[in-house]
Amino acid sequence: MSYSKKFMVKPGEKIHLDKIDPAYTDQHESHEKALTKIQEHVGRMDKLQYLLYADGDQSLLVVLQALDAAGKDGVIRHLFSGMNPQGTSVFGFKQPSKEEAAHDFLWRAHQRTPSKGEIVIFNRSHYEDVLVVRVHKLAKKSIWSKRYDLINDFEKMLSSNGTRILKFFLHISPEEQLERFKQRLDDPARNWKITDADYSERELWPKYIAAYEDALEKTSTQHAPWYIIPANHKWFRNLAISEIIADTLDEMGLKLPPTHVDMEAIRNKYHIAEQKQAGKGNDPLNKNSKS
Ligand code: ATP
Ligand code: MG
Repeated sequence: MSYSKKFMVKPGEKIHLDKIDPAYTDQHESHEKALTKIQEHVGRMDKLQYLLYADGDQSLLVVLQALDAAGKDGVIRHLFSGMNPQGTSVFGFKQPSKEEAAHDFLWRAHQRTPSKGEIVIFNRSHYEDVLVVRVHKLAKKSIWSKRYDLINDFEKMLSSNGTRILKFFLHISPEEQLERFKQRLDDPARNWKITDADYSERELWPKYIAAYEDALEKTSTQHAPWYIIPANHKWFRNLAISEIIADTLDEMGLKLPPTHVDMEAIRNKYHIAEQKQAGKGNDPLNKNSKS
């Protein structure tokens, strides 16, 4: 079964994250085999991104959401670094600025959605407004509880304008998170990544899981599905996400646009004429020619 089918949250499906194994690696996969496959998928992604850009009619929005240290940055580094920077961008959602907070919660997200031909990756997203905002009570329940429908409407509008939306929740265990925090403490090159907030947020784990379960259940739709990706093993996370993205781009029916010039006429007018001139030693661009 493809990972698209396997990990997709079906619209209306009840989610119990504690029943989904974050250490799942698919029994048929070994780390080495996976690396070859990841390279294949990333190669397909790169080729298809070129087509998406050339085609210029559709776009792709990839949403990455997770608890701290689940690997959002790793996904971006490993899977998107080979793509042509022209036509790809990443946007990280932090605490809203004063200007952002003075607008509706979708305002800042909408400004960053991809234009035709582009791929945009949201590192965190408008979903923070039903996650951190709910867990920390930054808005009243009467406010955040209306946002699921608003998000669905927003994403439906993007989708009907030609944007494919893929939303990934990177699922790790609390033990794996603690281990990754420890690595950040032990490795001087990673010290900068650890903050007090990481540990204090960790204490809110059950509240975050409840908020994620609600978001996954209420906002996985046909036009903007959520995928729950087992992410304790970084290689498996990369394998599953790269396959889903490459398969999705494949399905989009991308094609090179038709040319707007008469290729034969141009060939005859410039190339054949220049070849004839060069044959006579009259190539105007060649310093050693006779003319
Ligand atoms: P890392 O995993 O490397 O720490 P990060 O995505 O956690 O990366 P940070 O700069 O540490 O990046 O955190 C950004 C913070 O901004 C997160 O704690 C997130 O919850 C918060 N944030 C994002 N959107 C909102 C929002 N709408 N309201 C309040 N806080 C938000
Ligand atoms: Mg953080």
